[in-house]
Amino acid sequence: MPSMHQHPPDQTPLTFHCQKVLALLLQKEKPLSAYEILDALREHGFRSPPTVYRALDYLVKNGYIHRIESLNSFIACHQRADHGDVSQFAICKSCGKVDEIRDEGVINSIKKIKHKFLKQIDYKTIEITGVCRACTSKPGRAKD
Ligand SMILES: [Zn+2]
Ligand SMILES: [Zn+2]
Repeated sequence: MPSMHQHPPDQTPLTFHCQKVLALLLQKEKPLSAYEILDALREHGFRSPPTVYRALDYLVKNGYIHRIESLNSFIACHQRADHGDVSQFAICKSCGKVDEIRDEGVINSIKKIKHKFLKQIDYKTIEITGVCRACTSKPGRAKD
């Protein structure tokens, strides 16, 4: 829900390119690949992949968006204020919808793993793929 999205006051203003990428992703419930973003933003002066990758890189590092590894695409973060140690996503392979979820049990498990096995955890995104409730109640629905 884009209306839940709030920037902490200490953030430096985003560049024009970052603003455009973030605005685009906030409109979408589904993640977009870098090339889909490039295509959608050509009219705003995005001419080459490096422009998009630089903006995506900055937005990921600063928590505005997430990279969904299994889909090789990006989605806006809708819970920046209370993010915890790990990002969790429920991905519908039928309609492509991605929900950012926050399960305390998962967060606690990661904390235990960190405590027992890894001093530092780099990869902190959990992606759970399946079929969403809306899709299971509409069995005939085609993928896009
Ligand atoms: Zn997030
Ligand atoms: Zn679905």
